[in-house]
Amino acid sequence: MTTTIRWNIDADGIVTLTLDDPNATANTMTQQFVVDLTDTVNRLYVERESVIGVVLTSAKKTFFAGGDLHELVELQPEDAPRFTEHLNHVKSQLRALETLGRPVVSAINGAALGGGLELALATHHRLAADVAGNQIGLPEVGLGLLPAGGGIVRTSRLLGVTTAVERVLSSGTRYTPRAALKLGLVDEVLADSSTLITRAKEWIFANPDAAQPWDTPGYTIPGGTPTRGPLSAQVSHLSATLRSQTNGAPAPAERAILAAAVEGAAVDIDTAELIETRYFIGLATGQIAKNRINLTFFDAQRIKAGGSRPTGQSRFRSSRLGVVGAGMMGAGIAYAAARAGIEVVLVDVSLSAAQMGKQYAERAEAKAVETGRSSANSADLVLSRIRPTDDMANLTAVDFVIEAVFENAELKAKVFGQIETSVAETAVLGSNTSTLPITVLAAAVSRPADFVGVHFFSPADRMPLVELIRGKQTSQAALAKAYDLVLQLGKTPIVVNDSRGFFTSRVITARLNEAVGMLGEGVNPVSIEQASLQAGYPTGTLQLLDELTLTLPRTIREKAEAAATVDGRVWASHPSEAAFDRLIDGYGRVGRAAGSGLYDYVDGKRKALWSGLAECFPPAAVQPPFTDLIDRLLFAEALEAWRVYDAGVIESAADANVGSHLGIGFPAWTGGALRYIDQYPGGRGRFVERSRELAERYGAHFTPSPSMLATAG
Ligand code: NAD
Repeated sequence: MTTTIRWNIDADGIVTLTLDDPNATANTMTQQFVVDLTDTVNRLYVERESVIGVVLTSAKKTFFAGGDLHELVELQPEDAPRFTEHLNHVKSQLRALETLGRPVVSAINGAALGGGLELALATHHRLAADVAGNQIGLPEVGLGLLPAGGGIVRTSRLLGVTTAVERVLSSGTRYTPRAALKLGLVDEVLADSSTLITRAKEWIFANPDAAQPWDTPGYTIPGGTPTRGPLSAQVSHLSATLRSQTNGAPAPAERAILAAAVEGAAVDIDTAELIETRYFIGLATGQIAKNRINLTFFDAQRIKAGGSRPTGQSRFRSSRLGVVGAGMMGAGIAYAAARAGIEVVLVDVSLSAAQMGKQYAERAEAKAVETGRSSANSADLVLSRIRPTDDMANLTAVDFVIEAVFENAELKAKVFGQIETSVAETAVLGSNTSTLPITVLAAAVSRPADFVGVHFFSPADRMPLVELIRGKQTSQAALAKAYDLVLQLGKTPIVVNDSRGFFTSRVITARLNEAVGMLGEGVNPVSIEQASLQAGYPTGTLQLLDELTLTLPRTIREKAEAAATVDGRVWASHPSEAAFDRLIDGYGRVGRAAGSGLYDYVDGKRKALWSGLAECFPPAAVQPPFTDLIDRLLFAEALEAWRVYDAGVIESAADANVGSHLGIGFPAWTGGALRYIDQYPGGRGRFVERSRELAERYGAHFTPSPSMLATAG
């Protein structure tokens, strides 16, 4: 008797295997499942004479979910032999299933991602129901892993190495059933799950001799092998693509996937499976997979489950949102809300300004329809939810307002005065300010307890993070509502206490300052950009600074310096300050919007690093070691994240890690800005030593804080 796989044979001799773990809401690769899979495959062989065919399906909402990440994240090098044996065993069962000599069909009723798709790939025919939430793909790369249940071996043999690597394995794309059909990952798509089993049985009757293509005489891998056919010429193309995708940043999973796919295509299937296993073990027992799993799965899960949400507050669902200020941010917020099914009242100073804000959504939806991501009907529905107006009186029925007018405290105070008189007394008052203290803004309203910072990132409809800022008087109820709204928008909230620069701006400013400090020392600017990419940041730091404008970090510095003077604190100046002043005041270089920054622009297009940089900052005769440049960027941010955390501005490490990654591009391979410290080779103690080295060479801002020293061991 198996517990996670139900066996049912009908009068025609077709066995339906229903995956249905009684102890969980989803089917996963538990120990019990492996035992049950083994028993089931054995039984199929024992009873083969009375079996006509096999249908594999699931009684859960999803088909099968894959490996247990709790177990994977704990794997150590000494576990390698045991885990290799485990994988070999699972693979041998899947191989036995596909070589049973009877047609086996998967009826994919819900998401088949990772292990789920690998299971289905070991069957002869894949049917998928076109139902909401049914996703098909091998997303392991996002966790720093590779699919080790035969996923690389079988997709390569099914689609060819190039397509498998580029479209499935390295991209980790989750496909809709229709897109999976087009690609060839599934064979048929049915309108819903009700007819899956009937259709599966029909297929079995029609294909009594079904076998995998790779077990059929005369089979060759589509696109050839590394030494024969088109693939032999494409291997270097694949390597070049990998290089341009990863920019030289640590990307062991992407590399291992390519190697396993190419090497596996040159050998027989059993050897290919072993190659896949070995690469997987290398990844799973290494640090980077742990960092990525913790960041993208466990930390993200904690946030989604309400980790930093005040407890005991009832759930909130916004039905009508007010957005005041229809500029770049307001337009993006309104569009994000409309897409999430929320009615939006979009206010600006004139109807035409408000309509211009709505045009942002109109353009985006038109593009979505054009590229097939949306239909005309659903685009119309989304757009019908945004109501542009110049009259605050139209805000009466909103349950939440987000203000996104110019960054000016007096203007915001005036606008909130108007908002307050227009909305219901229960409506939450949110401000999208990027720099102004929430507690100060809240002082302008009569109910500061309902006031909360809701800091989106640009472009607001696409960036996944929202930093919620709790002012001194913000109530738990208002914060909880803001948290729920962010989740309703499909975004990730982190919670930060009101403090200059909040969390993300403070941390990113540390990197921007570091890069400009390097310029001031005469470091080659090309090296600074290259170090940024090799550290794993999505763009060069100088390029980013041009987008944000050079005056922004300087204004932040000036305000912080003024505040320090008022408080009687000594201002600890940063080595970058003179370089900023020289660029802005001496040479008028302020950034992309002005058409002249650290790069040159022609007609708004970035061309090359500014040709005057060498005159502005004469190159140093001796350039610092390249690894120092990489470490300086990462360490500057990690040390700042620690200081913010240590000061209690951000209270959850998960929020800090996820916030640094999703908000300001701290590289995923590190696991986030705080985790970077502990995962550093040699641990926190070695991180401290390296910080001291950097402090000695490049400035006191690298000196680890006493609290870090106290815990460094
Ligand atoms: P923006 O200049 O593009 O838009 C501001 C809009 O507010 C304009 O359409 C303007 O007409 C409107 N407005 C001005 N006074 C108004 C009033 N009295 N009533 C109604 N509307 C009024 O600015 P933005 O970049 O969208 O920034 C808006 C806010 O978001 C600022 O506080 C900014 O600091 C913050 N923010 C910006 C970014 C960013 O990257 N741009 C990121 C996070 C937060």
